[in-house]
Amino acid sequence: MSMLERLAETYPATPPVARLKAAMLFAGVRFHRCLLEAADTAFPNYMPYHLTDGEPPFRGKRQVQLPYLLRLEDDTQLRLRIKDDSPFQIRPDGHRLGFAIYEGERRICPTGFEERQPWTSMLTADGTPMRATGLSQHGDMLVMNVAPGCEYFVVPGEGRTRNLSCTFCLYGLPDKQRMAPLGQELYVIDVPRPTIDRVIEACRHPTTEAKQLYMVGGSMLDMAEEGERFVRIAERLAAAGLTEKYYVACGTGAIPKAHMKRMRDLGVRGACFNLEVWDPAQFARICPGKASIVGRDRWIGALEDAVDVFGPDHVMSAFVGGAELEGEGAFADPQQALDSALEAGETLIPKGIQAVYSLFWKMTGKNRGEEPAYTLDLFLRLNEGLAAIRRRENRPVNPEFFGKRAAYMQLEPDYDAVDPAFRDHPKFVAAASAAGSAGAATGA
Ligand code: SF4
Repeated sequence: MSMLERLAETYPATPPVARLKAAMLFAGVRFHRCLLEAADTAFPNYMPYHLTDGEPPFRGKRQVQLPYLLRLEDDTQLRLRIKDDSPFQIRPDGHRLGFAIYEGERRICPTGFEERQPWTSMLTADGTPMRATGLSQHGDMLVMNVAPGCEYFVVPGEGRTRNLSCTFCLYGLPDKQRMAPLGQELYVIDVPRPTIDRVIEACRHPTTEAKQLYMVGGSMLDMAEEGERFVRIAERLAAAGLTEKYYVACGTGAIPKAHMKRMRDLGVRGACFNLEVWDPAQFARICPGKASIVGRDRWIGALEDAVDVFGPDHVMSAFVGGAELEGEGAFADPQQALDSALEAGETLIPKGIQAVYSLFWKMTGKNRGEEPAYTLDLFLRLNEGLAAIRRRENRPVNPEFFGKRAAYMQLEPDYDAVDPAFRDHPKFVAAASAAGSAGAATGA
């Protein structure tokens, strides 16, 4: 039985496209040379790919670029990853999208790639490549990260620093190569003015075609300072008209309510404070910085404050599905991880806070890139459970904030978009009418 056949039998309540997406996030795709030419016009993966020994070089090179995101016919988006033992492969196809997904020799569906947006190869007025301004894009969502270094990696203590970073995290590493071009200094609130000027210039570019602008950054040790940093960035975005152009959301740590209010008054519309792991003991083990410096109760309290400030359809918290099952002190049984994840949904969703889960990808340790076998099933079971809670509570994930073309590692929007219970939900009606008027305006 193929992987997709097994998933169809086991998870009939999951939309077929969500099963396919989960399977491909988990298993990746086998390399095919059509990906090499496709990268000329696709949004590029920020990590280069090294051709394996049996493959001839491409345009004289063994280190090549591959597309970053697949885009299916119904706008489902997912991150592409190469895994040699995957049952899936992408091959050229006569469909207008140009390619198709195969499982073994069975053609599953047509696919294309998220296109490279012209802004990514342009320069700002001072000659900086726009893609080096701290801006990246996943479909409809621009992610602005002008202060990537996270202070939890270097917490000052008696004569030395301690690493209290989240165990799965590599992207917050205070790496000089990333921080220096942006001028970020650890323990300093302000990011240099020219850095903000440049990223604003990139965000204002008409070819982003994005709808959301999500402000993120590494954590600061002092939540009030982190709040202040983002209020100051939001002031600049508002002055440049970007809070009108985009749905701007703040993806900070659990900042004080006063800072949330200031951001809302500047036009910021949503907040996402990532708790990462729900169970208190696992949270302390996996996120020692968040747990010891902020604390779980304060984190949840900040999410509740955010509902007061931004409204119930405008608050989310991201979680890493399966992180509780890895490393020393992990849950012994996947059922515990599932129960805990569903408890997060049962607690947060009725309060107007969406719990959004991404599949746990192993990014660190000696088995990096080898996902544990239970992860795929855990991911689908918890997504089915969370979708049922959202349906019961009549609270879909707000497509203005986080829609199908923003979710490249998560499934929630893929469930809600086809859930008959939400067909007439005001949020989906509003999103459909906004897409219709945008199409009319562009002649699409
Ligand atoms: S708070 Fe955790 S997940 Fe966020 S950047 Fe720091 S270490 Fe990484």
